[in-house]
Amino acid sequence: MGENQIRQLLKQIPGVDAVLQWESVGEALLRHPRKIVLDAIREELGEVRNQILQSEGALLPLDPQELARAIARRADRLSAFTLRPVVNATGIVIHTNLGRSLLPEDALTRLQTICRGYNNLEYDLQRGERGSRYVHAESILCELTGSQAALVVNNNAGAVFLALNTLAAGREVVVSRGQLVEIGGSFRIPDVMSASGAILKEVGTTNRTHLFDYAAAISERTAMLMKVHTSNFRIVGFTKEVSLGELAALGQERGLPVVEDLGSGCLIDLAPFGLRGETTVQQTVRAGADLVTFSGDKLLGGPQAGILVGRKELIEKCRKNPITRALRVDKMTLAVLETTLRLYRDEHQALEKIPALRMIALSPEELNRRACELALALQGEDPENLLRIEVRPGFSQVGGGSLPAQDLPTSVVAVQSASISANRIEEFLRRNDPPIIGRIESDRFLMDVRTLIAGETEIIAAACKRMIDESVNR
Ligand SMILES: *Cc1c(COP(=O)(O)O)cnc(C)c1O
Repeated sequence: MGENQIRQLLKQIPGVDAVLQWESVGEALLRHPRKIVLDAIREELGEVRNQILQSEGALLPLDPQELARAIARRADRLSAFTLRPVVNATGIVIHTNLGRSLLPEDALTRLQTICRGYNNLEYDLQRGERGSRYVHAESILCELTGSQAALVVNNNAGAVFLALNTLAAGREVVVSRGQLVEIGGSFRIPDVMSASGAILKEVGTTNRTHLFDYAAAISERTAMLMKVHTSNFRIVGFTKEVSLGELAALGQERGLPVVEDLGSGCLIDLAPFGLRGETTVQQTVRAGADLVTFSGDKLLGGPQAGILVGRKELIEKCRKNPITRALRVDKMTLAVLETTLRLYRDEHQALEKIPALRMIALSPEELNRRACELALALQGEDPENLLRIEVRPGFSQVGGGSLPAQDLPTSVVAVQSASISANRIEEFLRRNDPPIIGRIESDRFLMDVRTLIAGETEIIAAACKRMIDESVNR
């Protein structure tokens, strides 16, 4: 195209104000603030302009209806929430990318009750004077874990950092080489250690560490003995780790605190559900740890939080560290955490009402029933049999860096199609509103029903119907 021609075409582009007056744009104005619609118009017109400049004049003459639809779609995108609900069909119960633990209904109700009005977050109602926010979940944490004191901070990374900075800045912390873990999202024990000012003293080897390794590493520079839960991997074969009991005895003998970073923070025994080897917080306290740190939103099934429980004077030292102020939790976290913890007073209630535990405890029969229900619902939207829908056995993961290499048997719904590729199915469902997240395995799109919640079967069926309609009409 010649320069003249391009200039002619550019002249045909309507002005922003003119487009704003179009009747076909009126609908977008009803749904979105004027500023959003203006931005959408500017961006769409900008795109038309670019197409002309890149000599893709084929799009002209401009179809106003088409342009109005594009503007409406862009306005929808521009004004959408960025943090949105998604359907977790991955079967990964504590999915860090999908918001970790779902909160119990009781906790959500309590959250509204506490946040709708004022509360005694930092007010001592007995004395009528300023109080401390840190008392709120403390008594229930002590009751459940058998510890003397407790402190809640923003997350477990913060809890570990706080413990190290408070008890070991400028001094050495003895850790087994096999426990220098990296958790997703760049939490690495050696890095947290150096950021906290503590000096890492590695002992043993990757696969074997003995009590004498710890004993030999202790000097006048030592501040603490530390154990880290190897949350997301497992070393098998010729291995040896020192038990917490043995380490606690050594710590006591040498006058050093023993700190365990438990990671997940499980409060009930999961062995009845086929998950072995996750030591509970109570067991860890009983085995002699002076300080234990764990997350609020992993196996505990509550809000994002870092929890420290242990000996009173150590907790007190951590509380007085100025860094605690930078890691402090707000009333929302405390309201949700306290309510979640109270459910643990009755184990049956905890298993029934805490979604993460409820999902882990689902029976194979129930999972199969739900998978058949989902498969039937999908079949109902596919009269032409465009999709091949099957219920198959599969495995779910607990996730959240808990219980690595321990998969839970489940039932998955597999979707395959001669006319729609697995990648296309995955993309279509991921772009649905709400997005549906599953996985692809041997050319099939898989959905694990373990992590679905009420109403999501219908959402998935409706999305599949749209996908089928679109594919037929193409
Ligand atoms: C998950 C985990 C952390 C980090 O906890 P966040 O609550 O995500 O900050 C630290 N240590 C271990 C062993 C973990 O598993």
